[in-house]
This record gives sequence, structure tokens and C-alpha cells, in this order.
Amino acid sequence: MKAIICEKPGNFQTIEVPEPTPSANEVILRIRKIGICGTDYHAYKGNQPFFSYPRILGHEISAEVAEDVGDFKAGESVVPVPYLHCGQCKTCKEGKTNCCPNIQTMGVHVDGGMRELMPVPARNIIRADGLDHEQIATVECLAIGAHAVRRSCLRKGEWAAVAGTGPIGIGILHFAQIAGAKTIALDVNNERLSYCKNILGVDHCVNANEEPINALMEITEGNLPDAVYDATGSPKAIENAFEYVGHGGRLILVSIVKGKLSFEDPLFHSREMSLLSSRNATHEDFSNVMRALREQQIDINPFVTHRCDFDQLPSIFEDWSDPCSRVIKGMVTL
Ligand SMILES: [Zn+2]
Ligand SMILES: [Zn+2]
Repeated sequence: MKAIICEKPGNFQTIEVPEPTPSANEVILRIRKIGICGTDYHAYKGNQPFFSYPRILGHEISAEVAEDVGDFKAGESVVPVPYLHCGQCKTCKEGKTNCCPNIQTMGVHVDGGMRELMPVPARNIIRADGLDHEQIATVECLAIGAHAVRRSCLRKGEWAAVAGTGPIGIGILHFAQIAGAKTIALDVNNERLSYCKNILGVDHCVNANEEPINALMEITEGNLPDAVYDATGSPKAIENAFEYVGHGGRLILVSIVKGKLSFEDPLFHSREMSLLSSRNATHEDFSNVMRALREQQIDINPFVTHRCDFDQLPSIFEDWSDPCSRVIKGMVTL
């Protein structure tokens, strides 16, 4: 069978590999669609920390069960939860499988979905009936936003500001809207802001280069937002975001950056701010995303901007990784 492997930074190869044989408690999945995300572009460019080569990328996966195993029937549509948790540790036992200290993410720490068939532990597979394969391949990406919003306990009527409106920021905005919050999108890219306004219908858009604090003060009648989510991947933007948070509010860091962050403690303290990180997502978040997709609370048609076939991916990947290509979500069909 065919697989696409990232041999070393900047180098994809289509290779022939043996079909996988499942270990105990594994199910063989036939991969149907793969979503491409920032992690994949960083891995390809060689600036993804904790990454070793060669590696088969792909963690935004839509698949069908290849053959009957246990409760799973051949042909069923499923989504793999790509974070392989240990299930044994204190963190897993508390249900926080998304931040298990022994976590191995498919397509990052272990081989991912850019291959025709893939073995996945049964406990990491969720049925996805009622959704098409393109929808299923967006579930992981949207679940990052669903998790961040759930983790922040966002309530109806609160002001939620999202800095950085790439695919992750868009997911956060969707789930902030579903939670009934009033939404504000911040970005330095006006094209992305118009997507937020016109496609998502967020309440306000703020260009982060144009006195954003004044704009946020005005929008929230001097209170500033209750919850500020960072999905920028920019240390400077994260440090600026401390100033966007209202008194008693929370700042949720969704994107991860290398190195240290700093902030003014008097600012942090005077506002009695809560600082949270949000990592990956759990089965519950995946299920919440699938419900939102089934109930048509989220339309992925404008979200998936670029498509290609599996064979085309090695030659097209470089283009997609270029911001000028205006990719929001690239989707690969197997
Ligand atoms: Zn991703
Ligand atoms: Zn664990």
C-alpha cells in the first residue's frame, strides 16, 4: 500500500509499505480524508519541536473501518482521536487524557494518517455516522477550539475575544458562539477578519495593529472581555493579550510557543486574572464537535478552501504552506 513519508524537513516521498497487521485491541482503518494543519507545515519545514524524522504525518483523519473487529463493522465511518494516551496514569484516570504525560500524538510522535491503512487502538476510535468524510476530517481541528471553550467555562452573554483567526481561532469562535457568548475576533490580517465577520458572523472584528485595547474597551463598554483566547502562535501577541482581559477574567493560551513568556504582575494581579493553557482535546470534545456538525451549527464548506488527491500532496504541499496561498484548511482525498 502507499504512504507519504516526510523523510527529512522539506522532503516528502510516496513510498510502498506493507499493509499493517493489528495488535491486540487495535482496529485497521482505511483512511479517506486527511486535513492539513499548522503542525504539518511546521514539521515539513523542520521547525516543529519534539519531532523526529522520518515520519508519516497526518492527525486530522477521517476513516472507515477496514474489517469487522469486535463492535466495529467494516465500512463504518469513524474519527480517530489521534492523542494516544496511556490510560494508566493519574492524569488519564482523572479523565484528562488530552494532557497525559505519556501522550503520543499520531503524525507527531508516532506515524499518522498519510497512508492507505492504519492501525488504531479501539479506545481511540469514535463512530462518526451521519457525517461526510470531509466533515469528519475537520473534527480534530475543531475539537481544539471546543476544548478551549469548555475548559474556560464560557457562559452565555459573556464577552469572548479570540486573537488569531486561523483554523484554531475559527474553531474557538464557533464554540464561543454555540456557548452563547458575544464574540470578538482579533487579527492583523483584514482578510481573515472579513471571513470572521461575513462567514462566521462574529459580533466585532478588531485589527490587532490598530489600538486594540481602545477598540475592546469601546465594544465592551469599558469592561474588556471576560475570556480572551490566544491562537496566534506569537509570543508578542500572547504578551499583549494580558492587557485585553477584563477584571476577574481569564486568558486561555491555546497556541504553544517556544521559550518564555513574560507579563506585568501588577496587571495580572489587579485584575485577578486566571491564566489557563489548553492542550489537545478529549473524546467528549470530539463528540461535541460531531454533534455541532450534525446539527448544522458549523458549516465546513467555507472552511475547507483547498483540496487535492493523495498523489498530488508531495508536489502541492509547499504551496499550501505559503500564507499567500490563503489556505484556511487544506484537505487530501485518499
Ligand atoms: Zn492539527
Ligand atoms: Zn496517561
